[in-house]
Amino acid sequence: MKHPKEELTYVMIKPDGVRKGLIGEIIRRFEQRDLKIVALEMFQPTHEQIDNHYPKNPEWITRLGEKTKTTYEKYGYDLVADFDTDDTSKIGPEVRKWLVSYMVSSPLVKMVVQGVHSVDVVRKIAGDTMPYKADMGTIRGDFSIDSPALANKEKRAVMNVIHCSETPEEAAHEIKHWFGDVEIYSYKRFGVDE
Ligand code: ATP
Ligand code: MG
Repeated sequence: MKHPKEELTYVMIKPDGVRKGLIGEIIRRFEQRDLKIVALEMFQPTHEQIDNHYPKNPEWITRLGEKTKTTYEKYGYDLVADFDTDDTSKIGPEVRKWLVSYMVSSPLVKMVVQGVHSVDVVRKIAGDTMPYKADMGTIRGDFSIDSPALANKEKRAVMNVIHCSETPEEAAHEIKHWFGDVEIYSYKRFGVDE
């Protein structure tokens, strides 16, 4: 069992976060909550790296399609007019493609964040996936208003400022994928570790 303070999560500042000048603001919010940045880098991802970052299993891909369908139904939009189908297993791959093109459209910032329940706490600081739904005081709620209704009309992914791992297992996988053998640092934060 790891010590509770040692839980790691993976965070990536997405193109809209970088281009809105939010790098410092995002890191500040994690540090303010006594979370520790233990690895950090700006980089230009390749198409292949992003393609391998997002899950490729049919369940995950169909889930993307289902989210789109739910939004269209909720707002009374015509799914077939935009996608030529209402089959979520066909819509999912289309949304995934938009996501990959969006993620390679500018340099990103990747980091490993450490601390008590870091996976859940970082997702709470990030807010709901859909910025129009995200609470004020969260990163997505304070800095974006994007929605799938708008994004899908414009044939693009929802721009929601950051990516963060959903579970400790996903975090371990993503840290290995993005940092490989690069060092994850260990240091003591004043007031947190001593
Ligand atoms: P992330 O994995 O980026 O931290 P998340 O876990 O909250 O976000 P996922 O369900 O894993 O959300 O979706 C991955 C990303 O795909 C979202 O962050 C968003 O950018 C995009 N996305 C999700 N659903 C849709 C949709 N219906 N239409 C367009 N883009 C979407
Ligand atoms: Mg996710």
